[in-house]
Amino acid sequence: MGDIAVEVWGKRHYSLVCSCCSKKYADDGVMLTCPNGHEPALLQTEYTEKNFTPVQEDEGIFRYRHWLPVVREIPGSGRPVVFRSERLSRLVGIPDLWVAFNGYWPERGGHLETGTFKELEAYTVLGRLPEDPVVLVVASAGNTAAAFASVCSRYGQPCLLIVPEVGLGRLILPEVLHPSVRLVVLEDADYADAIALSEAVGKLNGFQLEGGVRNVGRRDGLATVMYSAVEAMGELPDFYFQAVGSAAGGIAVHEAAKRLMAAGAPSNASKEGLPRLFLSQNESFAPIHRAWQAGQRFLVRGSVEDDKRAVRRAFADELTNRFPPYAVHSGVYDVLVESGGDVLAVDGESARAAREMFHDIESIDIEPASAVAVASLLSAVREGRMRRDSSVLLNVTGGGRARRARDHSPIQAEPSLRIASLGPLEEAVNQIAGLFSVDLQIS
Ligand SMILES: [Zn+2]
Repeated sequence: MGDIAVEVWGKRHYSLVCSCCSKKYADDGVMLTCPNGHEPALLQTEYTEKNFTPVQEDEGIFRYRHWLPVVREIPGSGRPVVFRSERLSRLVGIPDLWVAFNGYWPERGGHLETGTFKELEAYTVLGRLPEDPVVLVVASAGNTAAAFASVCSRYGQPCLLIVPEVGLGRLILPEVLHPSVRLVVLEDADYADAIALSEAVGKLNGFQLEGGVRNVGRRDGLATVMYSAVEAMGELPDFYFQAVGSAAGGIAVHEAAKRLMAAGAPSNASKEGLPRLFLSQNESFAPIHRAWQAGQRFLVRGSVEDDKRAVRRAFADELTNRFPPYAVHSGVYDVLVESGGDVLAVDGESARAAREMFHDIESIDIEPASAVAVASLLSAVREGRMRRDSSVLLNVTGGGRARRARDHSPIQAEPSLRIASLGPLEEAVNQIAGLFSVDLQIS
């Protein structure tokens, strides 16, 4: 990797374990699924270190390196900032309310340059990769692409980013793209289309599908939200609030909470001590909410056209994953059941009001998804869903983008290729292969 020296540790201090058949694997840095022929299941990490041992002198997420699936430390990472907001607590009516802020907010110590918690994922995924250079293939609604574009550009990691056009506005970056980082924009398409194309490209020699929620690097990177919270709070929260598209963050903090509990982290929550996950979605497009409220393990499928219309009406388009990992073993359904959680839906008006309220209180801008989470917390309290003396962790998954644009002069990333209407995937795959140097193409 790259033009900049990174610290490499070599040996992997963890194994991968299948959440379905329990088979254990040595990680090769890119493995995404268990090869045994059973129903879809997530792989999980099992670390040699059983205690929670943050590296005190490290301020970025590699502070939690003993519980990250990485073989190298990539310099420059930030981490979630966890704090108590007295004014927000008073307004919500929950004295023990904590905010995990992911984004740019230098006064509070927030240094995620692309403004969302996706940056935690990008650093961990890159830290997990094997030595051989491959082109990492990432599909994204926008925020993930911004995070990978920024981190891969800085460290010269070859990367292909596929985003629907609606997400392009989020790719406003600290620096211009490195020549080995290529951006492909799909016009008149959504996140699910980007995923389909990425899976086709990922099959080419020299390309490696990053894999989204299936990548343990992604989830354990997001787990640092819970690690940071427990360091600040001194215990696990009773409730956890987050707005979700794929709900990778929800799954990740649940896995983190289990790991922390096994290491002896105090907790006074009701159901087996694990924080209850209160996840939220846009009311206009809420596949996880719909399936959960119907009490079923499988997503309720609408027609593609109906789904696409609903996606366009959503307040927070970054939450509009049409295929979240709901039914998969140890996926969204399982973590909701295990944690005694729930899924709420939030309308655009409530989310807008919540965003303004947060800005008035804290003088920092938050992303639409974070506004949905704040609104869901307000409605849960109003409906008496929790005791007032509960401890609550609110994940503000993104913020400070406008603030950063004022402080610095970020640059709009330029696409290498625009695909006007996605026809047969083969054609698009060939166009994309042509963007990268010939020696990557063996087949
Ligand atoms: Zn298995």
